[in-house]
Amino acid sequence: MKIAVLSRNENLYSTRRLKEAGEARGHQVDIIDTLHCYMDITRSRPAVRYQGHELPYYDAVIPRIGASVTFYGTAVVRQFEMMGTFCINESVAISRSRDKLRSLQLLSRRDVGLPRTGFANRPDNVKDLIKNVGGAPLVIKLLEGTQGIGVVLADTNKAAESIIEAFMGLKANILVQEYIKEAGGADIRCFVVGNKVVAAMKRQGGEGEFRSNLHRGGTATLVRLSKEERATAVKAAKVMGLNVCGVDLLQSANGPVVMEVNSSPGLEGIEQSTNKDVAGLIYEFIENNAALISTKTKGK
Ligand code: ADP
Ligand code: GLU
Repeated sequence: MKIAVLSRNENLYSTRRLKEAGEARGHQVDIIDTLHCYMDITRSRPAVRYQGHELPYYDAVIPRIGASVTFYGTAVVRQFEMMGTFCINESVAISRSRDKLRSLQLLSRRDVGLPRTGFANRPDNVKDLIKNVGGAPLVIKLLEGTQGIGVVLADTNKAAESIIEAFMGLKANILVQEYIKEAGGADIRCFVVGNKVVAAMKRQGGEGEFRSNLHRGGTATLVRLSKEERATAVKAAKVMGLNVCGVDLLQSANGPVVMEVNSSPGLEGIEQSTNKDVAGLIYEFIENNAALISTKTKGK
């Protein structure tokens, strides 16, 4: 098959692995720099142009759209969808996953386990907002944060109030969340492909750090998932409409709760800690599905 990987950087581990694994399975894999694609949307036949040429028809596109290029990146994916190309994650689902609030609302509507969460922009009663999610200790998050930046733990109601007021002063959208202490500074990254968790790792934050992000110095180890954890991850992926994603779970006293669903999950940590050919499994999914399901939304 002819497959395009949309990525800003061909030297990233994930991009390199996607090229290598696809070629090992006999596919032609082109790495296309998302931001260098340009589109002529006045013509009736949708196309994508790149380096002075019209791109050929691809059987499938693997979008690796970084958070900072979501707007343009999803427009490029949408253009491929309009051409009838099978995009393993659709533009609509990628946009949805980039909005924490929208994601949590969707997941809660479908009864996926979540931490008690409140959201606000300029609450007129900060004490009530805090009380509503059960009081301190609380986690306060900037809606636009990634890689654990903008995630703050407030030990007391007083501290929570000051932090919320500081964020309000910056006119930021925030989430206020019950602190899942029993997670012990760890979370579980479930790598979902299709309707299966194909690999999972436990990420543990560094000493004295409640955030488990690898970018914040966390370490990853192999983990065996419970049936409930597996089912929660698969359901979260389905609700979000993502075929390939990373679902981050915390182990709470009331069972697994979803932190977030990442539509461009990194391959490095998960392949190295599990020794699995996750990139190869993504191609297996494409081989089995590209012709059958094509794209559902056609970019709408
Ligand atoms: P980001 O999208 O920036 O990674 P997250 O919401 O995933 O932000 O939070 C970063 C990390 O902080 C999580 O992986 C988790 O380890 C920790 N964390 C976040 N929210 C909570 C919470 N409510 N209770 C306990 N730990 C949390
Ligand atoms: N972009 C990485 C991922 O989605 C984040 C890893 C991390 O910081 O934990 O896998």
